[in-house]
Amino acid sequence: MSAAKLEITELTAGYGQTRILEGISLSVPAAGRTAVLGRNGVGKSTLFATIAGQTRRYGGQILMDGQDLTAMDGSARARAGLGFVPQNRAIFKSLTVEENLFAGLKERPRGDIEEAYAMFPRLKERRRNMGGQLSGGEQQMLTTARTILGRPRLLLLDEPLEGLAPVICDELMAAFTELASTGRMTVLLVEQRLKAAFDFADHVVILERGKVVWTGTPGDL
Ligand code: ATP
Ligand code: MG
Repeated sequence: MSAAKLEITELTAGYGQTRILEGISLSVPAAGRTAVLGRNGVGKSTLFATIAGQTRRYGGQILMDGQDLTAMDGSARARAGLGFVPQNRAIFKSLTVEENLFAGLKERPRGDIEEAYAMFPRLKERRRNMGGQLSGGEQQMLTTARTILGRPRLLLLDEPLEGLAPVICDELMAAFTELASTGRMTVLLVEQRLKAAFDFADHVVILERGKVVWTGTPGDL
């Protein structure tokens, strides 16, 4: 599996009758690292949720390596190689870290889990702890590791650093950078901390009221 190219054209979407995305067009090359920026409420999470098939789409196209994602339901999108780590860090609080990593998987590929632990050594130390005992940063590592175990070709990370201490943020960003540098996945990151976003990304997209208002490299800004 190799990194996927993402091509979004004139995407409009929202919730019920409420339009949030007002015609988003966006092109991300395979193995690209794109930071999506914008103030609270401009539609960053809605964009990711729409790529993942979790909102109401009114029009436009989402192509992953030329395949139309909008024709697929959420689980078909995941099978096609989409990995989505949402903003809310959903984990199973009464399962251990290791059970969380395996949840929903039929087989338990030991090699994969060691890979996840290599990326986040803290998770290995805490593998017998319950999900509910984890710090926010550890929960973020856990949800990210779970998604990575699905071997996505396109990874969406929605504000993974939100509310976390700087030392954990550095650890997470180092892991994301390492992941992206394998070239095995294309990464889109929503991030409010400009320094972290610019250090990570080779491209920046700025949203305002459901529209792309600027796109370029971090150096252009
Ligand atoms: P933040 O930086 O705070 O995470 P965001 O850019 O991710 O903001 P969204 O969460 O996409 O913004 O929200 C965009 C708009 O959509 C907001 O007005 C929000 O209230 C609305 N919205 C978000 N989720 C829902 C939902 N499930 N149902 C209805 N409206 C929603
Ligand atoms: Mg959001």
